[in-house]
Amino acid sequence: MKLLRFKMEGVIKTGVVINGGLVEIHHSLLEASGSPLDDLERKRFYPLDEVKILPPVEPSKVVCVGLNYQDHAQELNMDLPEEPILFLKPTTTVIGHGDPIIYPPQSHQVDYEAEMAVVMGQKARFVSKDDANDHVAGYTVLNDITARDLQQKDGQWTRAKSFDTFCPLGPWIETDMDPSNQNISLKLNGDVKQDSNTGNMIFSVEELVEYISKIMTLNPGDVIATGTPPGVGAMQVGDVVEVEVEGIGILKNHLKLG
Ligand code: MG
Repeated sequence: MKLLRFKMEGVIKTGVVINGGLVEIHHSLLEASGSPLDDLERKRFYPLDEVKILPPVEPSKVVCVGLNYQDHAQELNMDLPEEPILFLKPTTTVIGHGDPIIYPPQSHQVDYEAEMAVVMGQKARFVSKDDANDHVAGYTVLNDITARDLQQKDGQWTRAKSFDTFCPLGPWIETDMDPSNQNISLKLNGDVKQDSNTGNMIFSVEELVEYISKIMTLNPGDVIATGTPPGVGAMQVGDVVEVEVEGIGILKNHLKLG
């Protein structure tokens, strides 16, 4: 089931994507993610292109994993990490499908990074990998925008990863999906730049939930960005960037001058 949040006449609503359109439902997205479609109280139908799609959740944090694809580690000639490498993006980075990514004047190299994202449904603290799936609401698409020059210059990642608009998320969550074997790809102005499979991830979703929840409480709506495959690269103002995860859909954004 594909669940999204959208805005219509100034009101934030929740919907299910059905037959190229969406049906408004009488539940919050996280409530609905735990219910079968038949149990959801349905309201109006809207064509998808007539609504403003919002990020599917408003997380209390976005936890990101660096270097989590075997093929990306090979590309960089780096050893595989023994433990996940974590960093955070502030919630003010989050934007939705169709929103502009603002190119900040402080940077001269702004890169895309195609990622699959986990959306938590239940609070998770000290959750074992065997129980991890019970705490996940679903999966969505994320673009971990990075000011690469500032990442290298600063020697740590906060500034490079944290500009407003640097976390496109959406367009919706898929609640019924095997996250361990889905194609993941990225197109820049229509050209394929990244093309891999989540099967190449070093740490699985279950392992990441266990590892992260031993460090910090994951709240409902929190997002885990699971890392990017090979082929990351720079974007320019005016570019259109599309990230696709098989089974979920396409997250499309464009770059605008700050
Ligand atoms: Mg990343």
